[in-house]
Amino acid sequence: MSRLVVVSNRIPIPVPSGQIGELDIPAGGLASALFTALRSRPGSLWVGWNGRIEPRKQLGNVSRFTLRDTELLGIPFTQGEVDDYYHGFCNMVLWPLFHSFQDRARIEDREQEAYRRLQHRLAQTLRPLVRDDDRVWVHDYHLIPLGRELRRLGWRGRLGFFLHIPFPALELWQVLPDPRGFLEALLEYDVIGFQTEGYRDNYLYCCRQELGARWDERHLSFEGRRQRVGVYPVGINADDFAPASGQASGERPRRGVLGKVVRGRRLILGVDRLDYTKGIPDRVRAYERFLKDYPQWKKKVSFIQIAAPSRTAAMQYQEEKRKIEALVGRVNGEMASHDWVPIRYLYKTYPRPELARFYREADVGLVTPLRDGMNLVAMEYAAAQNPESPGVLILSRCAGAARQLPEALIVNPFVPSSVADGLAQALSMPLEERRERHRALLTRIRQHSVSAWGDRFIRDLDGPSRLDSYNHHPAQAVQRSTK
Ligand code: UDP
Repeated sequence: MSRLVVVSNRIPIPVPSGQIGELDIPAGGLASALFTALRSRPGSLWVGWNGRIEPRKQLGNVSRFTLRDTELLGIPFTQGEVDDYYHGFCNMVLWPLFHSFQDRARIEDREQEAYRRLQHRLAQTLRPLVRDDDRVWVHDYHLIPLGRELRRLGWRGRLGFFLHIPFPALELWQVLPDPRGFLEALLEYDVIGFQTEGYRDNYLYCCRQELGARWDERHLSFEGRRQRVGVYPVGINADDFAPASGQASGERPRRGVLGKVVRGRRLILGVDRLDYTKGIPDRVRAYERFLKDYPQWKKKVSFIQIAAPSRTAAMQYQEEKRKIEALVGRVNGEMASHDWVPIRYLYKTYPRPELARFYREADVGLVTPLRDGMNLVAMEYAAAQNPESPGVLILSRCAGAARQLPEALIVNPFVPSSVADGLAQALSMPLEERRERHRALLTRIRQHSVSAWGDRFIRDLDGPSRLDSYNHHPAQAVQRSTK
């Protein structure tokens, strides 16, 4: 029987001390989305790094376990692979470039070579495991050339790729060491998916300019290949965050977990992985601006920022952490009084059920990344609200989620006054408007659920085989770029 084989950089691993079946799902949108999408697809196989580091001789020590009918296959990496492929090329080149942080990118030949070699090794591990009629769905920037490597090893089944992060503009794409080669690798997939139309359009433009590929509003054609290109915005399962029935009442929820901390104050909440793309320092500065521009809110609000540790070995992330700590310290030092601390900063990862309670108790969800493929926290915050008296979502226009959630208060995270005005508007928004906005948001979140995302992508992946298109269109005219 045809299986779905999902490949991503990391897989969740069982919690060593937890109950049987309990998983350590890494903080991050990709793991959240895949874990939820696979719940409705029994019999799937999920392959990726299990977080273990082994000497080269012991790389055959794969870990296998089954969770709710999904088989997980964990592959160990060597220290060199973690350093050069993951911390190196993935995090120091692809991540910053794709998020339009060109000045943070640092390209090393050795790391680029490690990235290429790892794809080959993963393809070799996968090749004997995949059956002819399986569908392989590869995820994210870590594994762009994996499909091509599988093809080189003779696998001819259906192959899909989904990019969870933004696809950059051509000028940034051209900073990559081999921009054409990367596009050709992406064109190996039968189906490729993006979070927004904007990212899809960037991809199409790059393929047309760099390769002279042709686009017919659905498919890209290049050297006899025909690729389905689509927009599949990732979502959440709203029920995982919805308030339990019986909790709904006309009032804001009574504060349980955070009550002691914020007392009667209005609560503003930020939840992110600690990553420079999330714009936490800009958010703190914007909050400071809000307190200066709207002094009537002093002592009446409390801002809690959760920053889940992420990529802690990387210097840029350590610097970002120091920057946030210094900024929070300065703002608190300058603005706090003996009975009020303006910002509470928590460098800690919270389990999702606990986050859901925090979301519910917050009057404002402040989600202001500088660039973000989608941003699931925004959806989780909205889904967690009590519909009778919901909190207000403030959302960056630079997150993919802004396309999905236009009824949020959309702000520009680079402009402190934009976020400050958004905060003032959110805190004084009348109940009826809060309800209306929340109703619209929830409808959209339910419509574009994570299972709808998986279903739509897999339906397109099940479409006609690329081999058919090879056979039927053996000699597609190739338009070369005139550049
Ligand atoms: N998350 C978590 N614990 C935390 C902080 C975040 O489990 O302490 C989860 C959060 O619930 C969300 C994901 O991490 O599902 C973050 O996804 P998002 O798309 O917002 O951003 P990403 O981290 O993928 O850039």
